[in-house]
Amino acid sequence: MFPELERILISKEKIAERVAQMGAEIGADFANRLHAEGVDARSEDSVVIVPIMAGAMIFTADLIRHIPLKLRLELLAVSSYPGTATRSKGAALMSELKADLTGKHVLIVDDILDSGRTLRLVRDLLHERGAASIRAAVLLDKQGVDRVPPPDGHEFAEHVGFEIPDAFVVGYGLDYDGCYRNLPDIGVLRT
Ligand code: 5GP
Ligand code: MG
Repeated sequence: MFPELERILISKEKIAERVAQMGAEIGADFANRLHAEGVDARSEDSVVIVPIMAGAMIFTADLIRHIPLKLRLELLAVSSYPGTATRSKGAALMSELKADLTGKHVLIVDDILDSGRTLRLVRDLLHERGAASIRAAVLLDKQGVDRVPPPDGHEFAEHVGFEIPDAFVVGYGLDYDGCYRNLPDIGVLRT
């Protein structure tokens, strides 16, 4: 699709298959945990999905259609790679969290876990805002990279789509300098 791509790492068919599995897995996890507290997650208003914009936009759109629970979306924008950088410059919150998350069961959705700064920042923020439980789903988990310390007593992400090698990837929502988000597959740019 783009001549700038060196290779496709994950095809759109593989992505679709895995995203459907993840949605089912997440739906079951929330339903079971909330059931243990006497809450029916299919009908009660207690699940909030927090997608990290803009990278998680396409993943979230596909994922939530496989989560058969009553849920709300609360978008959050976090910037980590301003412009043409391909290494994390630190995560900065670029929008306000408007909803009251006190007592809510929250799922953070992000495109990719790299240094862990983004998920660390967002998990800490949701904890401060009184979320009853916090889980995270990432489509990609980059292997062999330096990570910041994880949030107290937690993993960065409980739900992972694919583990990938340490390469800069684009497509399916992931950008380089704002472009390539519309590529249906996930690929590696020519360097
Ligand atoms: P972290 O904060 O864990 O270092 O990085 C997470 C964020 O960095 C992701 O939400 C994503 O926006 C960006 N990121 C990390 N690795 C890549 C990559 O290989 N490609 C793209 N396009 N973005 C990445
Ligand atoms: Mg991001």
